[in-house]
Amino acid sequence: MSATLIDGKAVAEDVKKKVQENVTYLKTEYNITPGLATVLVGERPDSRVYVASKQKACADLGMNSYANTLPADISQSELLQVVQGLARDSNVHGILVQLPLPVHIDAETILGAIPIEKDVDGFSPLNVGRLSMKNREPMFVPCTPLGCIYLIESAGTKIEGANAVVLGRSNIVGLPMSFLLLHRNATITICHSRTRDLPSVTRDADILVAAIGKPKFVQADWVKPGATVIDVGINEIPDATKKSGKRLVGDVDFENVKEVAGAITPVPGGVGPMTIAMLMQNTLTAAQRAAGLIK
Ligand code: NDP
Repeated sequence: MSATLIDGKAVAEDVKKKVQENVTYLKTEYNITPGLATVLVGERPDSRVYVASKQKACADLGMNSYANTLPADISQSELLQVVQGLARDSNVHGILVQLPLPVHIDAETILGAIPIEKDVDGFSPLNVGRLSMKNREPMFVPCTPLGCIYLIESAGTKIEGANAVVLGRSNIVGLPMSFLLLHRNATITICHSRTRDLPSVTRDADILVAAIGKPKFVQADWVKPGATVIDVGINEIPDATKKSGKRLVGDVDFENVKEVAGAITPVPGGVGPMTIAMLMQNTLTAAQRAAGLIK
């Protein structure tokens, strides 16, 4: 293997350790416990797992979590009332509405009801708007892209002036990722399902971020030798050697790409752990701001 392995698990543990120290300080000095409210609508097994792991992280770090588990057929106005109630609750510093919401719910309206200072996922229209403008600071940045930036920097990769290619343009990963790289003075190319001759674009990338949801899609000969490759994808593929009959792989053909790249994140153990660590950090920040300790 020629590439350096970027250990997302270890970087995430470092971030969480610092968060935990700050949580202890807030409790001891100010009698404040950061609180995260989770809103889960419906029975999607993946969403349940994600929300449970966020609640567990809160408990591990000494934060409060407030679970709101709601039926899939909840009406738009009932859900809105739940979020508005959390917005008023001073014990709740961060509100996380697990996406996707059922199709009969207008996600934009629900996300818009989260006050910007409690929008720890960074998906409310105000935070998104600020992120997409020059010289504006969002209160919070979406957790997965923020985690990717941490990982790129932890690998010692210089972002300023780099050619960065982002595969995927979703609101959750691809677009905010592109803005974060742009704000750090990379030259950005955003690719999507209509991009022509993808390999010729990715071969120019000093930093390549793959977030498309297609198992092992990015091939070794698409990657510039020495590039930093961040694999956001989480895909299940069949694996008869596993008890479960399946395993997780990313959007990058890791086994072959690691022979070409300079640094690469694995799946699992790369971007995934960072997403939760960043959520914890954002929730701490929200509590510190609510107490007037930071801006
Ligand atoms: P979406 O499905 O919302 O977006 C996928 C994007 O990939 C779209 O912009 C789409 O283009 C593009 N795309 C699809 N096929 C191709 C193709 N053949 N060539 C080029 N571009 C293509 O996915 P998400 O952004 O939500 O998630 C992406 C992956 O990241 C998934 O595997 C998801 O599970 C994972 N993920 C991981 C997280 C973590 O914590 N590690 C957090 C969030 C997501 P178009 O816009 O044209 O349709």
